[in-house]
Amino acid sequence: MDNEKISLPQYDIPEDMQHAIAVTTLDRLYNWGRRSSVWPLMFGLACCAIEMIAAQTARYDMARFGMEVMRPTPRQADLLLVSGTVTKKMVPAIVRLYNQMPEPKYVVAMGACASGGGPFKEGYNVVAGIDKFLPVDVYIPGCPPTPQALIAGMIKLQEKIDKQSYKKSRWYDKKKQDANYVPVPILGPDLIDPRRNEEIRIAAAKRENEG
Ligand code: SF4
Repeated sequence: MDNEKISLPQYDIPEDMQHAIAVTTLDRLYNWGRRSSVWPLMFGLACCAIEMIAAQTARYDMARFGMEVMRPTPRQADLLLVSGTVTKKMVPAIVRLYNQMPEPKYVVAMGACASGGGPFKEGYNVVAGIDKFLPVDVYIPGCPPTPQALIAGMIKLQEKIDKQSYKKSRWYDKKKQDANYVPVPILGPDLIDPRRNEEIRIAAAKRENEG
């Protein structure tokens, strides 16, 4: 299927009319528009972000995919590119950014860290993959993935968007209120809860006095 064209291939439109007429479906038209103008959030976490920045340079030309406009605000972005190590401290901020993005929205886990913790897996401060918190659409392997790998991931995302139907897509489920809302994680015993600092300080002082 040639997705660069809106017309459905099974309709033979006379050659002299092809510049003026297209026969298509609403889904195809909608997906074609969405896939060709995915705006990533200008947001990076660690070393992978450098490769993400490199992918935006003239050499790789993300404008070919309509993805050259990185937005500095989640309100105008529809792609969260998680590029780098996800620390426990950053998770609430990342989820909050995701919740602030308008729908339909997509998440790409770029690199080993965002996909599963990478070399820091099981570290005291690192989350073993952003998919524990957000629905990830595409995983890009590598440490770090090259800009070419990122582009391959973007093409996979486009292929995924091509298959969406606005009738079935979870974004338009009117029966479910806030179907896509992801609760912002509260820093707890496993993470770090700064609200418990006082409690911890008192417990530590008590233990010291006892010892
Ligand atoms: S996957 Fe590798 S390059 Fe990417 S953030 Fe982790 S350590 Fe850095």
